[in-house]
Amino acid sequence: MNEIISLCKRRGMIFPSSEIYGGINSCWDYGVLGADLKRNVKNAWWYTMVQMRDDVVGVDTSIIMHPDVWKASGHVSNFTDPLVDCKVCKQRFRADHLQSDRCPACGGELTEARQFNLMFKTYVGPVEESAAQVYLRPETAQGIFVDFKTIQAASRLRVPFGIAQIGKSFRNEVSPGNFIFRSREFEQMEMEFFIDDKKDDEWFEYWVEERFKWYLDLGVNPARLRKRRHRPDELAHYAKACVDIEYEFSIGWQEIEGIAHRGRFDLTQHMNQSGKDLSYYDDLTGEHFVPIVIETSAGVDRTLLTFLVDAYAEEGERTVLRLHPRLAPTKVAIFPLQKKPELVEKAREVKRLLQPYLAAAYDETGSIGRRYRRQDEVGTPYGVTIDFDTLNDQAVTVRDRDTMTQNRVVIDQLRNFIQDRMEQYKPLR
Ligand code: ATP
Repeated sequence: MNEIISLCKRRGMIFPSSEIYGGINSCWDYGVLGADLKRNVKNAWWYTMVQMRDDVVGVDTSIIMHPDVWKASGHVSNFTDPLVDCKVCKQRFRADHLQSDRCPACGGELTEARQFNLMFKTYVGPVEESAAQVYLRPETAQGIFVDFKTIQAASRLRVPFGIAQIGKSFRNEVSPGNFIFRSREFEQMEMEFFIDDKKDDEWFEYWVEERFKWYLDLGVNPARLRKRRHRPDELAHYAKACVDIEYEFSIGWQEIEGIAHRGRFDLTQHMNQSGKDLSYYDDLTGEHFVPIVIETSAGVDRTLLTFLVDAYAEEGERTVLRLHPRLAPTKVAIFPLQKKPELVEKAREVKRLLQPYLAAAYDETGSIGRRYRRQDEVGTPYGVTIDFDTLNDQAVTVRDRDTMTQNRVVIDQLRNFIQDRMEQYKPLR
């Protein structure tokens, strides 16, 4: 983790927010390449969960919602963590994260646990009165539930179908930390799948497998990925089943995504609180019913951290991020062998050729070896070198990040060559 944090900082990819003011605990900025990597993670999720499916549609709902939403969802009364204070050093901890009943920092005595609500409060409009109090959403899912009827009608989808969304969530975590693993402002990628009661167990298992496969398809090492089924005593009272997808970080196995069978809880709660009918009408059978929900809920930042940790390798002189090319912020870097005007001009021309189709970088400073290494550590899968022969044979050298093999490719074929390689990418283990 420390190597990743320092790489992200050194290359300006991810670093503390408001750094010139000393930063603010657990808020992070995605900078150069970090923003691209994050967008690629979200795009990869959207591609699999929305674009490639006939039964899932995507939405983008607001962060601030009617406060009654959070009464109905149970967040106002139940979205709490147990908080303890150290009587000696005054540090605060989440009681359920502690190994013993003494302070992990100084060994001091701890206070009794108090329940602390994790929702951020704010006010809409100029008057800070209780009637104007709202919350920043702690999950994106509720936007999907309250819009269920409108979206179903507009999409004309029949159950089973899903609604997906990516967006910011906020939790006033008691003990944020481990870089972007647990922060107070983060993004989620959630999908709620609405079904009737006939094949709910099958659908649940189906989504567990689909979500697990997503990480494998994007190159995550299977030896470090597992599914963990919740014990009955761990389940929320409304949930019938829950499986966490976990990754083995240096801090141990940790949840990166949860798949939950939520029964009819959410829609029923919103029907009761709002007084509006959110049932589904099946025009084939003439039946009205409240669908059962299977939820898949992943964190963008936590998933991104998984990809970074999994991809990181140190090999002799070089540090390399073996990111799947679909996730890599830059797909191809273009280098003139020397800073000679004719090579520079040709290299710029090659960049212009690739740029509309592939995120491309250009670098002319330092030795070619150094330039390769600079790209290796940010995960650029292909390097293209323009040399003096290029001016005669219209061919370039393409170097592969993982195998470091080099191929001579004519410029006319370059785009196809790289795109084919990307499509056929297999992680090197
Ligand atoms: P934890 O027990 O770690 O606090 P949770 O079980 O409350 O997490 P969920 O409510 O299931 O988490 O959230 C779904 C996903 O959202 C998590 O798997 C994680 O990827 C992401 N997530 C939740 N809280 C945070 C956070 N504070 N920072 C970053 N990502 C988060």
